[in-house]
Amino acid sequence: MKKLARMLTMLVLLVLGALFIVGLIDSSPSGGIWGVLGARQATIGLLAGHWQFDSGAVCPDGLQEVEITVDITNRVARRLRRQGYRVVVLPEYAPELDGFRGVVFLAIHADSCVDLSGFKVVRMTQAADREQEDRLVETLVREYADATGLRFHADTITEDMRQYHALRRISPQTPGAIIEIGFMGGDRQLLTEEPERVAAGIANGLVAFLRGQPLGASIHD
Ligand SMILES: [Zn+2]
Repeated sequence: MKKLARMLTMLVLLVLGALFIVGLIDSSPSGGIWGVLGARQATIGLLAGHWQFDSGAVCPDGLQEVEITVDITNRVARRLRRQGYRVVVLPEYAPELDGFRGVVFLAIHADSCVDLSGFKVVRMTQAADREQEDRLVETLVREYADATGLRFHADTITEDMRQYHALRRISPQTPGAIIEIGFMGGDRQLLTEEPERVAAGIANGLVAFLRGQPLGASIHD
């Protein structure tokens, strides 16, 4: 009888242990037990446009682009950290940009104060892994449009965006992109009064991209 009780206890412990591990796998931010283990080294790099450098675009009433980018970038970082990711928020010309290695990198800017509406996401022209970066751009465009209701404004993408300095400085192994989250003119209400919707769109895009990464690619660091 004693032996049977011991065996039953063992069985219960085994089942509980198995359930715990399954729970870990299900709830891990980047999917799978490897995501849990890899999340420690896996860093998401966010650049708050113009931070510690200049004001960026300025509206006639004094609203500065840098106020918006710092606010939104910090909100995105908070959302990602809550989901278990390690996040670094970098200023415009951070020395850490040189050879920056992470699971993904995104620079966040806003467009000028003109009366237009829409957002843009661009990767570098000479991306090391174009397929991966195209997927990053596609995922961000989908999730950002979904969360904010803004349309993709392809006609105002400039060569400056494609040759953005930070994307040339980070490690070629780090998939990177730049997002212009909307115009300070036409999208002002969204950017200043609904910042959580803006942040949700960006965070959702990054998480969706990382979840779709093949195993190993997200823990290469
Ligand atoms: Zn800017």
